[in-house]
Amino acid sequence: MLLARPRIQPNECLVSYLIRISEQNGFKHIGHLLHHAGLAWKNNRVPVHEILTGEFDLNVYFLQLGLTSCSSQIEPIFYSFQHVIDTPYLLVKYPKVCPDCIEEFGFCRFEWSLLPYLACARHGKLLIDVHYSTGKRLNWYRRYLNKFDDDTDVINSLSNVAPSEAIKLSQYIEALLQGGNRISCPEILQGLELRESLSIIHFIAHYRSRLLGGSFQPLSITNGELAQYYQYVWEMLENWPDAYYKFLNQYLERPMSNKELVAYINILGIYMSLCIVRRGTGELLG
Ligand SMILES: [Zn+2]
Repeated sequence: MLLARPRIQPNECLVSYLIRISEQNGFKHIGHLLHHAGLAWKNNRVPVHEILTGEFDLNVYFLQLGLTSCSSQIEPIFYSFQHVIDTPYLLVKYPKVCPDCIEEFGFCRFEWSLLPYLACARHGKLLIDVHYSTGKRLNWYRRYLNKFDDDTDVINSLSNVAPSEAIKLSQYIEALLQGGNRISCPEILQGLELRESLSIIHFIAHYRSRLLGGSFQPLSITNGELAQYYQYVWEMLENWPDAYYKFLNQYLERPMSNKELVAYINILGIYMSLCIVRRGTGELLG
């Protein structure tokens, strides 16, 4: 049994909830907390990714710790990603947080663990996932919710004021998760669901990286770097289709290999399906 048994908050990230419990009860990190609850994983490791996807059921451990079951408080949309092929491209590997929100509300939101959720609209800042001076990652095994491993506070530095595209994309993702029907977004994305939209966004990000001779590896880059990729894609979607043609022109200036030709055709395919989806939505609304 625990001394402090905080309640889970609506929209709270489950892993961060564990950190909060662990911190309040003086555990070194969540591995020790779950070990105490009976999780016998080697080296006090925790199935972080599986907890985030909903694949790993924590309820038995919550019971052991004398905490009430929490599955009903998790957004159902989150579970729609369970076991599907796109989760590796949806969830972060390292946590990112808005320190101002933690300060104000005392917990971490689960949206923060989604890759395209880049910025806190309330505080107008990019989420933080690296130490501003050491460059070290924030991690899931930290002792305190709002501190790095070296015990320095997670703070918003001036440089991470969020570009407007990052805020708009984050607000859009949040609105999709909440399932609203009047969602503000580029016209081309209207009527699309979260997974459809993310597929387009990631496809363009991947494609653009290939064009520039690199590769898009959202799991290994920082939130700040990720914001640059998504920012470009969001701008393109806002200026659809002109920006798209400009993008293709740039691409067609040099000869194409067969592989590249296939990719080019795929992009056209996506554009056409978007038009069909949008037309369909228009017909439904009209
Ligand atoms: Zn915030």
